[in-house]
Amino acid sequence: MAKAERTKYLIIGNSAGGIGAAEAIRQVDEVGTMTIVSDEPYPAYSRPLISEYLAEKRPLERMLFRPSDFYEKHNIQAILGRKAEQLNSDEHTIKLDDGRKIIWERLLLATGGVPIVPGIEGIGLKGVFTFTKLDDAKAIDEFLNQHQARKVRGVVIGGGLIGVSVTEALRKREIDITIVEMRERLLNTILDEETSALEAETLRRGGVEIITGHTVAKVSSYLDGEASGVTLDDGRSLPCEMVIVAIGVRPRTEFVSDTKIKVNRGIMVDRYMATSSPDVYACGDVAEAYDFVYGENRLTPIWPNAYIGGRVAGFNMAAIPTEYRGGTAMNSLKYFGLDVVSAGMVMPPDASYEVIRAKYGQACKKVILKDGLIMGMVFSGDIEKSGIVYNLMKDRVKVGAFQQALVAEDFGLVSLPEEIWRPHLEIPSAIADTSVISMEQAEEVIAGE
Ligand SMILES: Cc1cc2nc3c(=O)[nH]c(=O)nc-3n(C[C@H](O)[C@H](O)[C@H](O)COP(=O)(O)OP(=O)(O)OC[C@H]3O[C@@H](n4cnc5c(N)ncnc54)[C@H](O)[C@@H]3O)c2cc1C
Repeated sequence: MAKAERTKYLIIGNSAGGIGAAEAIRQVDEVGTMTIVSDEPYPAYSRPLISEYLAEKRPLERMLFRPSDFYEKHNIQAILGRKAEQLNSDEHTIKLDDGRKIIWERLLLATGGVPIVPGIEGIGLKGVFTFTKLDDAKAIDEFLNQHQARKVRGVVIGGGLIGVSVTEALRKREIDITIVEMRERLLNTILDEETSALEAETLRRGGVEIITGHTVAKVSSYLDGEASGVTLDDGRSLPCEMVIVAIGVRPRTEFVSDTKIKVNRGIMVDRYMATSSPDVYACGDVAEAYDFVYGENRLTPIWPNAYIGGRVAGFNMAAIPTEYRGGTAMNSLKYFGLDVVSAGMVMPPDASYEVIRAKYGQACKKVILKDGLIMGMVFSGDIEKSGIVYNLMKDRVKVGAFQQALVAEDFGLVSLPEEIWRPHLEIPSAIADTSVISMEQAEEVIAGE
């Protein structure tokens, strides 16, 4: 049997969360041995860009999240194309799918999510794909290249972020697409009704057919196990050669299922990104971390939260106690040219919330408030100053006294009371001597050393 390898820091997942942690660790510990394992064979790339890869605009070299010498430069052993299979959190070991055993001191689980695939008839046919990783984009690309001679028609199951991303990429390749969305509207978890309708109109103008309130009950085939159409839950048939399943992603927690690590919808972590098991941390799409809008832990599967959560985990793994301030759902979209920014709650859950809204030509600004705090926002058309509103929401600033200014056409930093905008222009003050510091403070300490 091969001898076990030892590493101080073991990171499973080579994406936003994993790289965030690796960079934070190397900021404070240049020598501790570090290993990153990923079952994807590529250096870290930007996952949101797989749609650009598919649209034939961006090769892998231009999708890389860090330069290809990142691992060597930071003295990191990267084990790519290998799956971590067995975790023993008591013994501090994991086994890879090639039989290798790794003994670790601190472990980070940054394993992301897996696409949800419904168990419907025909789902295993040729021409049916998911769309969450580069290999998915490559497989679809290869399929399209093979079928160049005849016109491919596609059905995208699911009108969420991933479904709309793949739709835009495929329209750029002149594929006819029908989106089938089970709910009544597109992008329903990240947009309010009005902006959802605007997105749908924009997509239709871009040549996309949209069917809402229905789902696909079956994928059918006429020959050789190849998809030739779908049947909807109302019996309607849509002929197509390609089906993309984009109904959602769930945290990839299978790796911890036989351990004592607590899992709710995702792996449960505290404000230090520590799991219920000593020396084991988690971040990113797999983790249920603090959401500052809801004031509780939730899944917030977006890239910046994964990266920042990873950095916090990394500092803590390297023994710099650092607290995660929290993240929330935040999306910046530009499908078919329409600029939209949304964050936090996009629909008021009950009458105790207040909605302020203003429309200027094609642009619309909407802010959701409760007790003077911003709980959510949706800006479309004019998104230029949305970052300021987002920061006020993140910093939990009481905005009741000037809330109407937030949706004004000429809103800017100067629209805010001086005591709010001035700190943004000042150099941060010295850091108090405390054992628990925020991530921003940790970064300042490190920069100052
Ligand atoms: C098409 C698409 C578009 C998106 N667009 C946006 C966007 O516009 N903005 C935004 O903020 N977010 C977007 N996202 C979401 C964003 O990509 C994720 O939030 C982010 O990638 C999460 O990072 P992560 O590090 O938690 O996990 P992931 O990026 O999912 O990476 C996890 C890695 O771990 C590997 N892994 C898992 N288990 C194991 C194991 N047992 N052994 C070895 N390796 C393993 C996986 O293969 C994967 O490589 C998009 C996602 C998709 C799919």
